[in-house]
Amino acid sequence: MASRIPNEFINELLERVDIVDVISPRVNLKKAGRDYQALCPFHAENTPSFTVSPTKQFYHCFGCGKHGTAIGFLMEYEGLDFLDAVESLAQLAGVDVPRQGGRGPRDNHANLYAITDKARRLFQNNLASNAEAQAYLQQRGLNAQTIQTFQIGSAPDAWDYVLRSFSPAEHPLLMRAGLITQNDSGKVYDKFRRRILFPIHDRRGRVIAFGGRALGDDQMPKYLNSPETPLFHKGRELYGLHLARKHSDSKTVLVVEGYMDVVVLHQHGFANAVATLGTATTPEHVTVLTRYFDNVVFCFDGDKAGRAAAWKALESALPHYRDDKSLKFVFLPQGEDPDSFVRGHGEAAFRQLLDTASNLSDVLLKGLQKDLDLDKLDDRARFIERARPYIRQLPKGQFRTLVSQHIEQLTHTEIDWEASTPGRQSAFRREETPSADDRAEAALVSGDWSPVKKAIALVLQNPPAALEAPWPASVSGCGHKGAAILQELLETIRANPQINTAALLENWRGRSEYPHLNRLAATDLMLTAEQASKELRDMAVYLQQAVNRNKIEGLRRKQAQTGLNAEEQQELLQLLASRVQRTQP
Ligand SMILES: [Zn+2]
Repeated sequence: MASRIPNEFINELLERVDIVDVISPRVNLKKAGRDYQALCPFHAENTPSFTVSPTKQFYHCFGCGKHGTAIGFLMEYEGLDFLDAVESLAQLAGVDVPRQGGRGPRDNHANLYAITDKARRLFQNNLASNAEAQAYLQQRGLNAQTIQTFQIGSAPDAWDYVLRSFSPAEHPLLMRAGLITQNDSGKVYDKFRRRILFPIHDRRGRVIAFGGRALGDDQMPKYLNSPETPLFHKGRELYGLHLARKHSDSKTVLVVEGYMDVVVLHQHGFANAVATLGTATTPEHVTVLTRYFDNVVFCFDGDKAGRAAAWKALESALPHYRDDKSLKFVFLPQGEDPDSFVRGHGEAAFRQLLDTASNLSDVLLKGLQKDLDLDKLDDRARFIERARPYIRQLPKGQFRTLVSQHIEQLTHTEIDWEASTPGRQSAFRREETPSADDRAEAALVSGDWSPVKKAIALVLQNPPAALEAPWPASVSGCGHKGAAILQELLETIRANPQINTAALLENWRGRSEYPHLNRLAATDLMLTAEQASKELRDMAVYLQQAVNRNKIEGLRRKQAQTGLNAEEQQELLQLLASRVQRTQP
């Protein structure tokens, strides 16, 4: 997506904001030499391979290969789009984002947020006069404060309440926001009718969707969520997360199954509850949860469905397990959910229940042993084979070692966990397949360090020093692939001598070369500042020679074919002379 924000602004912004200030509130950074290190927030690991370079204004993970600028970090970590990330940085720097052009995709998005928020207010207003909805909330024991905090509203028993409340011009947006829908014969009507409505907020507290609880018992389905929209992706969002992050004084989060559980728990002093939205716990959920909280407690119903849901959550969690985070599971007594339990037994009882939470390892080992008798040899073998794929999914670390040792003890067997795994390597080969074509970027993709590729890496990583090297007036004349990219980089630096690596990269966002340039910026060239300056000089001289050589060849060809004019003659002599000079010691 092309930015409508001027490049100059992005450059200035990235000079103003320190990437360390952006990352450190979110990731626990430790100083290591000139750089900072931390456990990577993007993959599970137990020894830090996530590095932040204040000089490059760039982060890089040697484990999973993720890298980028402060803007890229916010996009990746907070799940923001480019413009939101820029806005968020601008806020940090205390500047306003200038905009070019008029209506774009951005405006539509802003309009969608405006529509969902307007609908939120509409549903809240309806609640004031909706006796049936009020009676229901009262019966569930919700007080006015809670209803206000969660911005709970209601939709009346009508097909066109929303439809009538918006102008026809807004109907396409209502459709995109999933608030109205259309049947086969083309009739348009409200999506939510005769329901309690729970606005679903994103991490920043903006309304992105709604969850609706039916008011009549005969109404199906009992729970209805907004469909997937440009703002709402079920598998990524957690109901109540914006409040849990804000109010939770503990580092613990409770993951429950329904919005009502979250709301009721909140009212009873458990402000740290979140719920998945009509989906099983996804790996994306787990990543978000372990990013914001140290302890994740999954609360499931004690019935068969609850056990199955817990196992699903466990499977999503295994690849993201980190030794510095704790994942636990609580099972409620049969027939109870957190809502009914806390209302029926009180807060203290719920707290006690939380204290009985099982560790991930216990749930895992118990689940794997289900229906097996480890006194029997065959069952021991089956146990090991069942366990193998789960163990392999665990990131290497203390936890994996302990669990696999425990299984070995249980089975009295020494197990080669990696045995019989054809193609295991491929999982680690996440490199994008280079597109083998003639475009300039092909020069960046190939595994070899061509002089131009090396020069690009050096220039990207040392923008101010790059200016001091004696580059040819036009690098493109050297005839090497990728020279045009190098030329453009040099021109950008000449125009903005203060520019840093991060800003330089952001100028390329959205172009096909961008990922490759990011990778070059991330590569550790293992050079001191002086060595880098010297390399830059050598590269510049080398490319100047290549340019000269090409010019000499061209002039000689012309000389042989049509002859040279006086000017060209002069140029050729000069070029030849410079070559002689250079080859002399
Ligand atoms: Zn990583």
